[in-house]
Amino acid sequence: MESLLGTIIAGLFWNCVWGLLGHLLGKRNGRGTEGAVLSFLFGPVGLIITLFLPRARTCPFCGKAIVKRAIRCVHCRKRLPPQTPTAT
Ligand SMILES: [Zn+2]
Repeated sequence: MESLLGTIIAGLFWNCVWGLLGHLLGKRNGRGTEGAVLSFLFGPVGLIITLFLPRARTCPFCGKAIVKRAIRCVHCRKRLPPQTPTAT
């Protein structure tokens, strides 16, 4: 019984470590929350998925993360100004 509890606590600990790594990795693409959730749930697999998420940008009106090619913000529904091409 005690070892089962230890296993659960260790599992939760590692999920939190993966979640934190996913958050830090996802933050580079404006995907901190998605990265944290994916990595918390799926561990290293979620971390890899986070790497391949499309890069997000920030809405100039509400400040939330949106898809790079969006023409309308999904959060505040405001029409976004045309994006100037930037070198990555
Ligand atoms: Zn917005």
